[in-house]
Amino acid sequence: MVETGFSKHISDAGDLLDIDKAIVDRVIKPERVLESYVSVVVDGEAKNFRCIRCQHSSLLGPYKGGIRFHPEVTLEESLELAQTMTFKNAVVDVPFGGAKGGVVCNPKEMSEKELMELSRKYIESLNDFIGPEKDIPAPDVNTGPKNMAVMMDSYSELVGKNVPAVVTGKPVEVGGTELRSGATGRGVATVYHEYIQDHGYSINDVDVAIQGYGKVGQVAAELIDSYGSNVVGLSDSTGAIIDENGLPTTEIREWKEKTGSVIGFNETTEITNKELLTLDVDVLIPAALANAINKEIADQIQAEVIIEAANNPITPTADKILNEKNHTIIPDILANAGGVTASYLEWVQNMQHHSWSQEKLVNELDTKMKTAYQNVKKTKTKKPKTHSYRESAIQMALQKLTKTLKLRKPIFK
Ligand code: GLU
Repeated sequence: MVETGFSKHISDAGDLLDIDKAIVDRVIKPERVLESYVSVVVDGEAKNFRCIRCQHSSLLGPYKGGIRFHPEVTLEESLELAQTMTFKNAVVDVPFGGAKGGVVCNPKEMSEKELMELSRKYIESLNDFIGPEKDIPAPDVNTGPKNMAVMMDSYSELVGKNVPAVVTGKPVEVGGTELRSGATGRGVATVYHEYIQDHGYSINDVDVAIQGYGKVGQVAAELIDSYGSNVVGLSDSTGAIIDENGLPTTEIREWKEKTGSVIGFNETTEITNKELLTLDVDVLIPAALANAINKEIADQIQAEVIIEAANNPITPTADKILNEKNHTIIPDILANAGGVTASYLEWVQNMQHHSWSQEKLVNELDTKMKTAYQNVKKTKTKKPKTHSYRESAIQMALQKLTKTLKLRKPIFK
């Protein structure tokens, strides 16, 4: 099995906590890796697609994690992201294990109808291995509520009954919640708020730059703006804009919805994406794809605090450089756990055939995120051996997984 960057984080935590090697190895390795091929008609011709599902751990509950549609989906990436999900769910204390999956495809070259057919086929090919108490997929890169509705339908047809709890992130009409689509961004903003309050900043004086103005970045930016902080820089794949007096985040979202880009909004100054990442701000929030902050750019980063809204936005080498230079990093497994927490609330509602008010859902999400932040912080202060929030979060999760493993499989001592 391939070694991932996250495996190294887990084994380092195991060494620091003196956990038996066989246990650490068991926690690192996936329980099951699935690969299948499906065929869909694209542009009038049959095409074959590689599907992957990595079921990393079911120690704390059914496998849980998103499905991405991307040309660069690999087994290694799915394993790393599935490990991340196991640890994320442990940190935020939802009773799920970890999984991740994907289809190697280029959604930009496919019609919506073709993508929906691919979603249906994905579930058909993995049907035996998923289920509301087995493995519960969700949206990820290039998938969203519409794909989830089709996946839910596909599974329901195959088992001959309606099973909304088999996937989360569904449209409201088929058992989803209003909360889910903005939940990752909301969780990022909540963690930001907790950290800022805790560290003696005056919230109105904090300058923030956000890389990526998709769903996660937009929601986080608007909430952070509403707390009174200054969102001074924003970017998307077309470029970046800055205004040292603070950007009007809602108007820029509307502008982007109209024009497809953040560029060209009023009098804002245009800079490059690289310049945005290296801005002299208090807080930097990478909310786009993985590996945005790599070793080439790490020592030019000026932000004191980096909050990982995306999954794996900092490469392991860059992480090391930033830690050595005493930047604070709030890791993805804490910062972006709002998405899967909202997924959990959706799943509970579906399992109970019941729905809660938006107010109750928002409260539950905020409380879970605040508690997770406080627990990671407590681990960081309690354990002199931990230096970073990432190490603390991983140690906290690893201890929980180790305890459960020993109870469930007493051959491990
Ligand atoms: N894809 C999201 C993540 O990386 C959410 C997964 C879920 O809701 O199951 O956290």
